[in-house]
Amino acid sequence: MPRKKAGNNPEQDKGRKKKNKRFQSVRGMRDILPKEQPYWQKLRKVVEKIAIDYNYNRIDFPILEESELFERGTGKNTDIVDKEMYKFKTKGGANVCLRPEGTPSVVRSYLQHGMASQRKPVKLSYNGPMYRYDRPQEGRYREFFQFGFEAIGEQDAILDAQMIQMATRIFKSLKIKNVALHLNSIGCEECRPSYNKLLISYLNNRKKSLCMDCKRRLKSNPLRVLDCKEEKCTQVVGQAPQTVDHLCGDCKTHFTSLLEYLDEIQIVYSLRPQLVRGLDYYTKTVFEFFTEDDKGAQSALGGGGRYDNLVGILGGPETPGVGFACGMDRLVKVMQNSDTEPYLPPTPKVYLAQLGDAAKKKSLRVFEELNKSGVMIAESFGRGNLRSQLKQANKMNAEIVLIIGQREALDDSVILKDMNSGGQETMPAEKIVKEVRRRLKKNAEMIKKIARQKTQKKERDLVKKKKSKKTTKRKTPVKKNRKK
Ligand SMILES: [Zn+2]
Ligand SMILES: [Zn+2]
Repeated sequence: MPRKKAGNNPEQDKGRKKKNKRFQSVRGMRDILPKEQPYWQKLRKVVEKIAIDYNYNRIDFPILEESELFERGTGKNTDIVDKEMYKFKTKGGANVCLRPEGTPSVVRSYLQHGMASQRKPVKLSYNGPMYRYDRPQEGRYREFFQFGFEAIGEQDAILDAQMIQMATRIFKSLKIKNVALHLNSIGCEECRPSYNKLLISYLNNRKKSLCMDCKRRLKSNPLRVLDCKEEKCTQVVGQAPQTVDHLCGDCKTHFTSLLEYLDEIQIVYSLRPQLVRGLDYYTKTVFEFFTEDDKGAQSALGGGGRYDNLVGILGGPETPGVGFACGMDRLVKVMQNSDTEPYLPPTPKVYLAQLGDAAKKKSLRVFEELNKSGVMIAESFGRGNLRSQLKQANKMNAEIVLIIGQREALDDSVILKDMNSGGQETMPAEKIVKEVRRRLKKNAEMIKKIARQKTQKKERDLVKKKKSKKTTKRKTPVKKNRKK
């Protein structure tokens, strides 16, 4: 039938259009589909393992927080708060926002729940979505994921070193190559004011050469001019006074001991006088990690630093803290281009096939019984065709196929087909759990044995190779001597 031309009945058309509307995710938001999940799962597993190894406890906090928490914590003059927050008023009139980062929330929770009375440092780790109303671009989303670690209550630089060590171990476990650590110290309340004065007077003399943003920053947050990415600003900044040259005694000692710790654990760093991290709460240590691909393009993996004033800024007693966070979306992308093996969940080795309505009912029960005993099973209950079910069992390399047909449903039995030997037998349903487990165990032992034999052969071959190499090496100089 030919389609009715649109326009005959506008009202009706409008209704139809509405009904047929296909929804899309909101701009800057995205779905993480099942095919990508093995990388995410791998990343989460690695991060969770490190958290356990270094005694960091998991914490979850709400996506929605008071806007003021970040205005005070992260800082009003930072890009995150100034330009990128998802802010709105609730029906009750409260000013709230979607969390743009984790650290202020962690500190809020630390204070709210009296964690200050716990043994210090209080070590916490989190991972979850964050929100920034940034211009979406390739690989950058308005909803993005971060994992982070925070240690509150200790000022020794050994904690800063531990943060860096943990991040490094995570990247290593993920097989991310060419990771560079950029490091700087931006001083404290004691030494920064006099440094700021120096910097402002230096920049004021070159104000004409700065970008519009930096002219503004000169008043609100001069340190941020240092990490401006505009070319004209980077030129000005190249000769600017450096924070590390103007640290107070305390900050200097702290930074020196951090460098000593890093040398001790053999972590390579490069000092970056322009690194400031752009958030208000950082004091002393700031660091960032980058990775470089084959074409030399750099991408930031994450970073962190010390925030000795943040607990105080958020209304608590002066308490030091240090932490770091990494963007998980970026990491997953890098992982996909590296040698990282994604996490592959265990696959079922047993397939349950059924034929006919009575068998279908029975199969539900058999499935549950096997599953309860710890055996993973695959099925496709929706299918009625036995042949297509067996095809699927083959495709997923099932070791055992259980078949319940009409007859088996009647006399409460199951056909067990061993896919390795090809043999099959019918047995009472009650015996099936025991039998399946026995066979799976036997198969697993066989696989182990084969693997063992393979590695033994490899080792033998390697020894042979080494021996033959040695003999050839010995031969060559002798020959040379003869020639002489
Ligand atoms: Zn200082
Ligand atoms: Zn600038």
